[in-house]
Amino acid sequence: DKLGFAIVGLGKFATEQIMPNFKACKHARLAALVSGSPDKAQKLAAQYELPETSVYSYDNFDSIKDNPDVDIVYIILPNSMHAEFTIRAAQAGKHVLCEKPMATSVEDCEKMIAACQQADRKLMIAYRAHFEPFNLDAMARIRKGELGKIKAITSDHGRPVKPTEDQADAWRVVKKLAGGGSLMDIGIYALNAARYLSGEEPVEITAQEFSDKSDPRFAEVEDNIHFTLRFPSGVLASCTSSYSYSEVKRGRVFGDKAWLDLDPLSDYKKHTMKIGDDEGNQEPEIEEGNQFAAELDHMAECVLHNKTPKTPGEEGLKDVRYIMAIYEAAKTGKAVKV
Ligand code: NAD
Repeated sequence: DKLGFAIVGLGKFATEQIMPNFKACKHARLAALVSGSPDKAQKLAAQYELPETSVYSYDNFDSIKDNPDVDIVYIILPNSMHAEFTIRAAQAGKHVLCEKPMATSVEDCEKMIAACQQADRKLMIAYRAHFEPFNLDAMARIRKGELGKIKAITSDHGRPVKPTEDQADAWRVVKKLAGGGSLMDIGIYALNAARYLSGEEPVEITAQEFSDKSDPRFAEVEDNIHFTLRFPSGVLASCTSSYSYSEVKRGRVFGDKAWLDLDPLSDYKKHTMKIGDDEGNQEPEIEEGNQFAAELDHMAECVLHNKTPKTPGEEGLKDVRYIMAIYEAAKTGKAVKV
């Protein structure tokens, strides 16, 4: 049995990565579209063979409560809009899958969790790396002790943001919509990876930021931000995030017996893993898999079997809290206890 998903926001990620992958799902299917542009929505509805009655605008979205074909609402809007649509979806009686970052403030995250709790609906944040086979394999090896005692983690996420060339980047440099710059958008992958690779929560954060203010892209949001996380066991994570690097999305875990590289760590496809020590290194064979279908199926299975998602609202809230601490540390130049 497949549960019906309504997609809110028909932008680049929704149309290029998510919608095409429903065909690979066992428990999830596309059931409705919610968009601010009726033409785009009608065209996509025709392409995916959805009835016209399953197309909603942002204004009449709340009437989705009367559509029994929709079980789950998947929010793929600019970051600052996640809270409003999560709350409206829960109030319409639907379960919610919401893109990262969960929201642009701790307060919004808390309101989203409360709204879903009150409506007795599931809330999951779409951290696709938690469903990606190379990352899952890395976590398993680390927990089994294959690298020995973990000492340090590094992760770098950057790409040149192009707001004048790419529509999907236009809102990313507007603070009101994005909440912040590279850290909110892609540094969050490094932050989240440091947490799931170490298996711990940080206790102390330091950070430094530099953005060229003569570059109009960085008038409102940050470009480069480096941060360190200290974990209770003593693991130190050192992360960089940028909107001006040539594209990079990698991570390395340093154990006292061996190191493990994921490069890329958080791509849409073609992940690679290397494990090495003083005797050399090897690339273990891991099947690529479909992280998007696995994520959609997990959300559907949590609803079907009344289970808590692996990456619930509380997980999204943690990262938003740490992001705020990173900004504070960068601003004050002082270590922030978390
Ligand atoms: P996008 O700009 O392509 O899509 C956003 C959609 O929201 C567009 O269809 C746009 O028309 C609509 N929209 C509604 N109100 C808007 C407003 N006021 N301003 C701008 N757009 C508005 O962006 P995207 O890259 O698809 O990102 C959307 C969300 O998905 C973001 O939260 C982003 O962080 C997340 N995302 C996640 C991943 C991932 O791998 N998990 C990848 C890319 C994006």
